[in-house]
Amino acid sequence: MKKINEPEMLGLLTKAKNVLLVEPCESRYIPLGLAKIATFVQKNGGRVEFNVPCKDHDLVAFSTLFTYDSEVYRDALAAIRATTDAPILIGGVCASLAPKLLEGQVSMFDPGEQYIFGGSSPVLDQCVPDYSLPWGDRDGWGNKSYTFTSRGCVNRCAYCAVPRIEKVNGGVGLWTVPNWREHIVPDRPCVLLDNNITTTGDHFAEVVEVMTSLKKPIIWENGIDCKHVSPEQATLLAQIKWAGNGLRIAFDRISEDGIFQNTVKMLMEHGIYHRKIMSYVLYNFTDTPAEAEYRLMECVKLGIQPYPQRYVPLMQPNRNNIYVGKHWTKRLGIAFQHFGIMGKFRVKGTWKKFVTFSEFAQRSDIRLKFKLADEDLALLKS
Ligand code: SF4
Repeated sequence: MKKINEPEMLGLLTKAKNVLLVEPCESRYIPLGLAKIATFVQKNGGRVEFNVPCKDHDLVAFSTLFTYDSEVYRDALAAIRATTDAPILIGGVCASLAPKLLEGQVSMFDPGEQYIFGGSSPVLDQCVPDYSLPWGDRDGWGNKSYTFTSRGCVNRCAYCAVPRIEKVNGGVGLWTVPNWREHIVPDRPCVLLDNNITTTGDHFAEVVEVMTSLKKPIIWENGIDCKHVSPEQATLLAQIKWAGNGLRIAFDRISEDGIFQNTVKMLMEHGIYHRKIMSYVLYNFTDTPAEAEYRLMECVKLGIQPYPQRYVPLMQPNRNNIYVGKHWTKRLGIAFQHFGIMGKFRVKGTWKKFVTFSEFAQRSDIRLKFKLADEDLALLKS
């Protein structure tokens, strides 16, 4: 496998006239990288097909996502190589973070020309995704439009792939997609994917203005940064027509205790209905169950929906032996996710009476359901 840079990758795409787009593992979103490649190839006079058997294609564009699906990617690459000699261009998250995981057993087949493109491409990012290809319904997510108006992030959180993939001039940073307005498709529900737009100053205000003018439900999927929301920004955000839970924020670390709650209260004081806000709550990282429970219950008390998000290492090579944080057990982690996502923090039939995760986990039916042993429950006290 040969690593190539952006001009080399674009050179392959420009030369190709008949490109097969392959998404080996279907995810919730359409494969945005492939959708942008489709636009780029067609602009250059080529044609594309998505997830069909390989025939006379002169290039295969292959997308990867989570590293823990690398076995699936290797098998799919081997299957493609068994049917065609066409060059294969591999991109996406796994290709960027852990290209070595994609190397197959070379002795079993000739890998031929395989190119790895790591990172994001500012040129492709300016291509409006081609929504006309048969991406599938994806539980309703296949019918939405997806927009990055900016790429990258000013932060470098240890658990996040964004600053490692979406680099600006090789370093940490954030850049604006110049033609982002063209990416808003008026007849589709809009999902904004910016990673940290509250740090983008005037650009933030421009994006909110456009979102407000759409007058249709918006999902701001990757959320706003609780440290960087000003009262002026809260005023602007309150003008958007939010989808249910459409405004996302995060309470991922205890160091943001207080800041997070104040920001959520400010958003609500400026007119954003509490049920329009959802907060990611990272767990299974360096936190203890008690600390994760605290962050989750703070969301509950504020009236917003928590979404417990289990930490998985960026380089997790497969789905076996998924990482367990040092203060967690696998069983406890599964029970915690169920507790948060299924709304088990509420006393059944009530809105304002809550049970803690500790109380929930100690119920005999829950112990049985999640096979919780005494050693799991002992961790709740630490
Ligand atoms: S602020 Fe969000 S996007 Fe930025 S590095 Fe942290 S988790 Fe990633």
